[in-house]
Amino acid sequence: MKFIGAHISAGGGVENAPLNAYAIGAKAFAFFTKNQRQWFASPYTQQNIDLFKSRCGELGYSPDHILPHASYLINLGHPEEDGLNKSRNAFNDEMKRCEQLGINRLNFHPGSHLHKIPIDACLDRIAESIDIALEKTRGVTAVIENTAGQGTNLGYTFEQIAHIIDKVEDKSRVGVCLDTAHTLAAGYEIRTEEGYDGTMSQFDRIVGFRYLKGIHINDSKKELGSRVDRHDSLGKGLMTMDLFSFIVNDSRLDDMPLILETPVESLWPEEIKLLYSLQK
Ligand SMILES: [Zn+2]
Ligand SMILES: [Zn+2]
Repeated sequence: MKFIGAHISAGGGVENAPLNAYAIGAKAFAFFTKNQRQWFASPYTQQNIDLFKSRCGELGYSPDHILPHASYLINLGHPEEDGLNKSRNAFNDEMKRCEQLGINRLNFHPGSHLHKIPIDACLDRIAESIDIALEKTRGVTAVIENTAGQGTNLGYTFEQIAHIIDKVEDKSRVGVCLDTAHTLAAGYEIRTEEGYDGTMSQFDRIVGFRYLKGIHINDSKKELGSRVDRHDSLGKGLMTMDLFSFIVNDSRLDDMPLILETPVESLWPEEIKLLYSLQK
């Protein structure tokens, strides 16, 4: 069974996230655990937590279908001590917030070397940051999102993701989220049946499907291998409808959050319906 939704707003309190998801007909959802452009946020109150949990229960959202997104400010591979510590503290806090909400996975962009350390050293640092966060929390999987490889962002090849996982101590709590727009921009063809099958079997061989914890379904304004991250609404960008059909008909993607991060919010209800209609 497929669980399709969108990255909705948690404005006004995290307890609003399940309501906002339900309002657009989502069966899964993502949200920011706190304001994604600020380092600090006040902790959740017991009321926030209780309401979030009870609403998820009432509206039928299982933790397996909720994939929060960590702040864009966090760089777990930061080459400098200060930036690294700040990022690690912020990430630990977000993992803690997920644990409080009874959520079992947190999606994040792995990190950037900023031209100051070699790629491998940056990947090692990211793995060490994950180890620290896993030690401080219980029950939450750190989910590495593949990136477009813009600027010095790492995690744009399956090999880089595998490198991180390989170095993480507790492999039962590390996972991967594939973003379709990032995958294409990073240079993986997924728009044809041959391309999709080839890319997915490469993913399986290098990383492993057992690590896959979610998918971000986005069209892309930028071409194959452009290394530029620009999402588009479904059918408006350079993807084919075929790709979206491959995804909703791929049984390996059952029972995990399939999340739209497309730019026009008002289209989400239609986009969710469209994706379900592509199921054969
Ligand atoms: Zn992301
Ligand atoms: Zn994404």
